[in-house]
Amino acid sequence: MNAQTTSPCPPTSGRRRVVIAGGGYAGTTCAVTLANKLSSRDDIEVLIVEPHACQQALSELDLVAVGPPRPEFCELWLTNVFRGTPVTVCYNRIDHIDVDWRVAVLGPRSEAHQQVEYWRLVLATGAVAFVPPVPGLAEHAITMWSVADAQRLQRRIDEQFHLAATLADRAERVRALSFSVVGGGATGVEIVGTMAQMLPKRMRDVGLDPADLHVRLVEGRPEILYDLRKEQRARAVARLRKLGAEIVVGDMVESVDATTIHLASGETLDTSVLVFCGGARPDPHAVSWGLEADSSGRLVCDTMCKASGHDDIYVVGDVAAFRDEKSGRMLPMLAQFAIREAEHTAANIVREFRGQPIVPFEPTMHGEFVSVGPSWGVGWMLGMNVSGVFAIFMKRLTYVLYWFKVGGVRLAWRRTREMLAMQR
Ligand SMILES: Cc1cc2nc3c(=O)[nH]c(=O)nc-3n(C[C@H](O)[C@H](O)[C@H](O)COP(=O)(O)OP(=O)(O)OC[C@H]3O[C@@H](n4cnc5c(N)ncnc54)[C@H](O)[C@@H]3O)c2cc1C
Repeated sequence: MNAQTTSPCPPTSGRRRVVIAGGGYAGTTCAVTLANKLSSRDDIEVLIVEPHACQQALSELDLVAVGPPRPEFCELWLTNVFRGTPVTVCYNRIDHIDVDWRVAVLGPRSEAHQQVEYWRLVLATGAVAFVPPVPGLAEHAITMWSVADAQRLQRRIDEQFHLAATLADRAERVRALSFSVVGGGATGVEIVGTMAQMLPKRMRDVGLDPADLHVRLVEGRPEILYDLRKEQRARAVARLRKLGAEIVVGDMVESVDATTIHLASGETLDTSVLVFCGGARPDPHAVSWGLEADSSGRLVCDTMCKASGHDDIYVVGDVAAFRDEKSGRMLPMLAQFAIREAEHTAANIVREFRGQPIVPFEPTMHGEFVSVGPSWGVGWMLGMNVSGVFAIFMKRLTYVLYWFKVGGVRLAWRRTREMLAMQR
């Protein structure tokens, strides 16, 4: 939903204003943390600019796409989060910024622009799905980087269920129910695992035979889940096979059409629905804002999360190129870093407001969990491998902690019930 027409942005009040661009994990966390740290006596206001009325909770997309259809899905309404706080939500987008005049210009180019002055600007505009120039991919594949993507997959699955139910020939039915996921990273494995575990039940519910289902994961590299240790990759493969998924590795996708995937080896795979989970790229508009960007288009920042050369602009989350000084590596696009960068940035903004020195962000990673079906996972925490129900419990616990952080007990409880309902 886009509430742009019903919620005009507030006029300039003359107070110091923190403008946050993006209401995803990073932007929402930054605004909530500022709201918690500032008191009503502080002469400062916080404006969050986000085109969607609800947060796109990306890490639950597999459940949105494959679970039972629900009107609310995994969305977190920003008006609920910020009700009763000093944060104003403006349902719009940053079009461009004027760094010399400290002005963020809102609104799509076709409409009248609004200028909003800022004292500090936090850019948290995230990333979008990456689609490489493989012939046919852009036309035929569904990407997985928004609730709209997940709903599109949900609709395509339903259409294929309806089609399969009308087909007399078994081979044709199996072809109609052949679903492929390309990309063996965490996103692809989560989608394919959830499909393999949940679709048989959904098929039984509509009178289809789960034996006709064919779920497949295709990865060009020799193994899936490269970020995890070898033994964890093997566990994930074993679990996917147990759920009935086929795994094709070491063969690149050369082209696709409406019914077939063509691999570099010459092999062809029937597929009626194709999901592409081959990665993400930073918000493509961010590079046009006149700030330094790296070769991938992420905005370069220093250890304080400030945009290179700009003392009044912070960049956080997926759109930020934050280099971890200890490892020398760029932080990956993960919610856990987006959230921690945002909390740290909010604390630094409050320090600046109070005339105190700001401190560098020191990233740490305590664990990582990948679901392989909604009730089983693999990953690691505190240096140890974890798998099975415990891993999935820890993964879901991180969501609950996030909901608690941004919306308190009521939101955490409501969203937990919603998530459990989606898993059934
Ligand atoms: C399927 C999937 C599963 C994932 N699972 C995990 C996981 O298990 N664990 C994990 O740590 N990470 C996971 N991630 C990654 C995680 O979701 C991202 O790292 C995280 O969303 C980054 O947060 P962000 O705030 O930077 O960006 P986002 O959450 O993407 O938010 C960016 C926001 O900016 C808004 N925006 C864009 N342009 C503008 C503009 N011009 N003006 C104003 N607003 C704008 C967008 O509408 C969006 O709401 C997953 C991602 C996907 C796609």
